[in-house]
Amino acid sequence: MSRAFNFSAGPATLPEPVLVQVQQELLEWQGERASVMEVSHRGKAFVECAAQSEADLRELMGVSDDFAVLFLQGGATTVSALLPMNLAQSGQTGEYLLTGHWGEKALENAKASVNTHVVASDKANAYRNIPAPGDWRRATDSAYFHYTSNETIHGVEFADVPDVGDTPLIADFSSNFLARPVDVNRFGMIYAGAQKNLGPAGITIAVIRKELLGRHQRQLPPIFEWENQLKNDSMFNTPPTFPWYVTGLVLKWMKAEGGTAAFAQRNAEKASLLYRTIDQSGGFYRNEVAASARSSMNVPFMLQDEALDKAFLKESEQAGLMGLKGHRALGGMRASIYNAMPLPGVQALASFMQDFAVRNG
Ligand code: PMP
Repeated sequence: MSRAFNFSAGPATLPEPVLVQVQQELLEWQGERASVMEVSHRGKAFVECAAQSEADLRELMGVSDDFAVLFLQGGATTVSALLPMNLAQSGQTGEYLLTGHWGEKALENAKASVNTHVVASDKANAYRNIPAPGDWRRATDSAYFHYTSNETIHGVEFADVPDVGDTPLIADFSSNFLARPVDVNRFGMIYAGAQKNLGPAGITIAVIRKELLGRHQRQLPPIFEWENQLKNDSMFNTPPTFPWYVTGLVLKWMKAEGGTAAFAQRNAEKASLLYRTIDQSGGFYRNEVAASARSSMNVPFMLQDEALDKAFLKESEQAGLMGLKGHRALGGMRASIYNAMPLPGVQALASFMQDFAVRNG
């Protein structure tokens, strides 16, 4: 076995016990005499698997019956485009608080179907902080207020849920879903693509306050209408059964490991080790995000001397640390340390970074 510690931003590392279980039941699943990929989504085994994954998710997040839990397709990108169609009435405005690339994308995706308004943006500061509520300009007649809980590229994360008054709050949690306890009742909707903190690419979770569904007046193709997905248990058409099944296994694994509170503790420990390594490197490495906005999931960092980037990447791979190349928009490096990244992985990275700095500083 030569599995590396995988710091990729997504698709990302999955818990090894889950992969082993997938391997064990790949040929024959649940006495079906076939794999999970080869049986009907309407059959008893898969319907039970789907229902169990929803129940586990509800338990892990503390989701009440006031909310629908949908398992959708098309990624977080598609959800960001469908949400104004589903949740806004004509003439209403969608408010957007921008703290990085993915908030910008969500805004662009909304423009075709709702009036949009940027409440505040940290773009001029290269997305290194979260705009203070005192600097927000709110819209009137707002259908919702959208923000990105964790910006995967810029490494900017909200430590707390922003206070937006009575406006339904919508958050893209793609890269910090279930990374810590969150009070779902503060939200109108939470959504997340699975491929970072939850499972394989191909399935997207949406937790939506039921009373927000079906309020829009426009006619939508039935497949885009989330009320239909709710009525059909997210099986209005054939769902991505394999990613759904693996996601269900990850949820079970999370429960066995102590749930979101346990992961919050581990994630804080991993992140503080990594930021300490950067901050105590005497400038060899740097991360310029404001301390209060630093992400516990995605840690971008630059080498003082860019000319060393290639050697850093090559040698880190040789040391069994993969996926550290930064996003092309920022350059440098990025370590994604989602729930499934064990502490020994981050310890190995920190040791490598210290050693590399000593040898090249
Ligand atoms: N939002 C965030 C925070 C992301 O990190 C990503 C993917 N990197 C997306 C949205 C887009 O997700 P998808 O590729 O699933 O559409």
